[in-house]
Amino acid sequence: MTLREMDEAGHEHVAFYRDESTGLRCIVAVYDSRRGPAVGGTRMLDYDDEADALEDALRLSEAMAYKTAAAELPLGGGKAVIVGDPDEKTDDLLRAYGRVVDSYDGRFVTGEDVNIDVADLRVIQETTGNVGGAGGGEGTDVTAAGVVHGLRACFAERGGDDSLDGRRIAVQGVGKVGRALVERLVDEWANVVVADVDEEAVAAVEEEFDVESVAPEAIYDEPCDAFAPCALGGVLNDETISRLECDIVCGSANNQLAARRHADALAERGILYAPDYVVNAGGLVAGVTEMEGGDTAEALERVAAVRDRLESIFETARAEGITPLAAADRFAEARMAEGGESTLF
Ligand code: NAD
Repeated sequence: MTLREMDEAGHEHVAFYRDESTGLRCIVAVYDSRRGPAVGGTRMLDYDDEADALEDALRLSEAMAYKTAAAELPLGGGKAVIVGDPDEKTDDLLRAYGRVVDSYDGRFVTGEDVNIDVADLRVIQETTGNVGGAGGGEGTDVTAAGVVHGLRACFAERGGDDSLDGRRIAVQGVGKVGRALVERLVDEWANVVVADVDEEAVAAVEEEFDVESVAPEAIYDEPCDAFAPCALGGVLNDETISRLECDIVCGSANNQLAARRHADALAERGILYAPDYVVNAGGLVAGVTEMEGGDTAEALERVAAVRDRLESIFETARAEGITPLAAADRFAEARMAEGGESTLF
């Protein structure tokens, strides 16, 4: 990567590390650290191409910076990727990676992501203290609570009534967040329809709650008041947006839009899109609350801010004739700029 490419991408810092004795090869990217230490998980993948690994680190660190700024936390955004087959992950490699993290002296703090779980974080912790979430925590339910606050803001924006009672909500993905969301929605008397590629996950949710299910591909065509993507990224794309039969999209998944232009495509279809990085800040809020010595009850209180933030984003979008994504980006960018100078160097 060249400095010119960094100018274009907007990142503060991109570093490549290689350790011969353990086989560690990793990239640490910091998009913005003006508000405070850069936080972001570490993912390990056997990327086909090193360019894909770099692209992932750049895209994910940028999203983290927008997420921390939109939540007005005194943090920046970063991300790390370890390039390699997760089946060949060794404790020595993780300890070497911990030394990389430690070299940032607290200016980059990492946590879980794809193929790096709590057990791995505990090994990484042997060589650095700059790890969050190694205790497990209850971030998942706080994330789900944030989605409920987001849905209320969306319904209020659409019609003034924020009640979930009788609303039909389609939940894509009933993993950790999706299941917790279903529980909260059913408690609020919503009518819930779920889909997941994992049949066992669907069966477990159907057993526990009074919900319907449809095949994974059919969830896009399901008539509903709100669609809540809680599985993978990229689900709002050229193929799916034209099929949606909902008024609102509001869910936990990261990077729901395949591209920025899909925010415009949703608006053109009259669908209200709640920007994912605003809605899904609950996990981050839970992590920060835990690091400050607070408990889950406190994190659940703090995550109510998702609703206030969305309300002001919708107001700006309405007043200025822009999409909620554009309004959210503007808010986050202003908060980053307020941070002053980089805290990384
Ligand atoms: P998870 O892995 O526990 O659950 C994801 C579920 O989606 C799984 O059950 C999986 O089978 C299902 N799935 C995968 N592909 C699917 C498809 N095509 N159609 C339907 N279902 C599919 O993950 P999670 O922790 O519940 O996170 C869900 C999403 O929310 C992710 O995008 C994650 O990045 C995001 N997120 C999670 C948190 C958190 O607190 N865990 C915080 C912020 C954002």
